[in-house]
Amino acid sequence: MFGVVEVTRGCGRGCQFCSPTLRQRYSFPLEHIMKEVDLNARSGTRMITLQTDDIFLYKTSPDFTPNEDAVFELVDSIARVEGVQYIQVAHAALAPVVYNRGIVEKIAPTLVEKSRWTYLNNQRYATFETGIETGSVRLIEKYMRGKTLPYKPEKWPDIVVQGLGILNDNQIYPLATLITGLPIENEEDIIATLELLDGLKNTKVFFVPLLFTSEEDCVLNRERHADLDGLSELHWDVFSTCWRHNVKTWRGKGFQSLIRIGGLLAYLAYYRWLHGPRVLRHVLKVSGWA
Ligand code: SF4
Repeated sequence: MFGVVEVTRGCGRGCQFCSPTLRQRYSFPLEHIMKEVDLNARSGTRMITLQTDDIFLYKTSPDFTPNEDAVFELVDSIARVEGVQYIQVAHAALAPVVYNRGIVEKIAPTLVEKSRWTYLNNQRYATFETGIETGSVRLIEKYMRGKTLPYKPEKWPDIVVQGLGILNDNQIYPLATLITGLPIENEEDIIATLELLDGLKNTKVFFVPLLFTSEEDCVLNRERHADLDGLSELHWDVFSTCWRHNVKTWRGKGFQSLIRIGGLLAYLAYYRWLHGPRVLRHVLKVSGWA
């Protein structure tokens, strides 16, 4: 399906809400990967999706220093296979981007050339999924210290801003998840996330704000799931700020009017009954009325 070829398995950065990190980190040998790519290409698959929880984990060293040559060889080898028209990387982390921007500069031209996505002005761009999760250094320290390696947790907001900036400079516009409702999250943590979002308002990124879910095979599996009923006003602000950004950044011609009218209709017919009048401010914000 979608030419998925597994290139790494596991992670090891140890985020406590995450299940892949519980698996042994492993990079598949290049010969094995190329056999899979060849098989897909010969069978008529035009797109190869590189399944990994972070492409920069490919043949990385134990301290998470990215292996520039190995990552470049991987992408370059796949791009040369006859019949491979598109390459899509599944996930990548931001800390390695800041640690070695050269690795991005090396693989970005191929990823952009082999991308199937175009921006509003028909300019081609590449993308992958990455995890921002929070702007709070306190939550990073508590639940995901490894995410910032080889840097210290307190550098996280800078890593996010710099990493996304470097990716944008190289025509990579990622999709980025954020988690609301982590177990010890308080008002200051949410405000730190809102401040981080404010620093990213001119960045080309598609935000995906999520509710914390305690998966069965993760360290936090005994914690309570976050749910919509438990969202505070500040949480709603995170959601509406993210979606306002998405609408502004990714809208096409006529899309803004559609969102404005659609947002109001959705509020009157659905959201008002589900969440009460308090969501009106956020609907207006996302739709561009406020
Ligand atoms: S960096 Fe990503 S894949 Fe690795 S442990 Fe954290 S959330 Fe999981």
